[in-house]
Amino acid sequence: MSAETTTPTFEARAYAAQSPTSGMAPHRIRRREPGPGDVRLDVMFCGICHSDLHQVRNEWQSVMPTAYPCVPGHEIVGRVAKAGRDVRGFKEGDLAAVGCLVNSCRTCPACQSGMEQFCHGPAVFTYNSPDPVIGGVTYGGYAESLVVDQAFALRVPKGLDPAGAAPLLCAGITTYSPLRHWKVGSGQKVGIVGLGGLGHMGVKFARAFGAHVVVLTTSPGKAADAARLGAHEVVISRDAEAMAKHAGSFDFILDTVSAPHDIDSLVHLLKPDSTLTMVGAPDTPTPLRTMGLIFGRRRIAGSLIGGIRETQEMLDFCGEHGITSDIEVIPAQQIDTAYERMLRGDVKYRFVIDVASMKQ
Ligand code: NAP
Ligand code: ZN
Ligand code: ZN
Repeated sequence: MSAETTTPTFEARAYAAQSPTSGMAPHRIRRREPGPGDVRLDVMFCGICHSDLHQVRNEWQSVMPTAYPCVPGHEIVGRVAKAGRDVRGFKEGDLAAVGCLVNSCRTCPACQSGMEQFCHGPAVFTYNSPDPVIGGVTYGGYAESLVVDQAFALRVPKGLDPAGAAPLLCAGITTYSPLRHWKVGSGQKVGIVGLGGLGHMGVKFARAFGAHVVVLTTSPGKAADAARLGAHEVVISRDAEAMAKHAGSFDFILDTVSAPHDIDSLVHLLKPDSTLTMVGAPDTPTPLRTMGLIFGRRRIAGSLIGGIRETQEMLDFCGEHGITSDIEVIPAQQIDTAYERMLRGDVKYRFVIDVASMKQ
């Protein structure tokens, strides 16, 4: 007998896309009743990541096609409504958070080393992954409740605004993890490409780690914000003359751009033996002249969110340093408008859904 028929479920309000072109609208989903090791959250806030837009519109169909209806959302903060009898560390009424992962195999080498995002299992992502408990696919945080295994629930440090903390669960960890991995710190010149949801968190972390931070943006109008967020310098990436002045001078560059763009010009900014790390994920092949890599033994790398232990470390770091995302809180009814504004680069710097609005 399949899990679908044996696991008790309950109904929850959500916002879903029914097709790549349908837009987002109210929808009812089923969640499993929490088991002994599960936490049930009443979702308060959910950030809007550009990955939500890519997946709602099936832009990643070549690597992970979208199953519809699709309920996105992986920047989730809520209150614990119920903790199963075996749950340690969370009790009813606590604030808790969920990011991009809701489960993994726990035994493969990646899981054993705290990198559940690379689980060979594979990992169960918060939405659009096969749901191993009740079947179908997982549904994300554009919903009034979420049930998650305690091992994938995170603690929100006291003092952080719950709405401003929500984007830390993806935009935060996706920038924190590569900056830590490539040991960004004082004495280094670090570039952050694209000042959007990820980029503005990258600026905050690189600055907090002591680096000299340069924002590379296509939007001259964001220069003042970049400085306020912590950048020491701003370079307009479409200005070839301005870019040439920085040739061969960067210790590390983090590229957060969501659309196809010129990678060669970024490679040329690196010092010898330095790394350009891509986290932006347009689903189109990127042309590259190998000359820029060869002259300087430079590297291009990628990075995917971060593991659960590192995500908690990042949240705790944010608690200690008072770091949250700069947000615009919107009701669920405005998700489609928020997507369009995000595509125009008109977001300062993360939309966060006030999930209470789903009851209206
Ligand atoms: P976002 O808020 O829309 O920011 C993207 C920024 O990229 C824009 O604000 C803009 O910054 C720049 N940009 C957009 N189009 C551009 C173009 N054609 N040429 C040059 N620059 C352009 O998006 P986000 O939520 O930060 O996500 C960024 C990307 O990272 C998405 O592809 C998303 O799917 C991916 N992502 C990856 C991971 C991971 O684990 N690797 C995790 C989360 C998200 P300026 O105005 O400053 O130029
Ligand atoms: Zn995301
Ligand atoms: Zn695993």
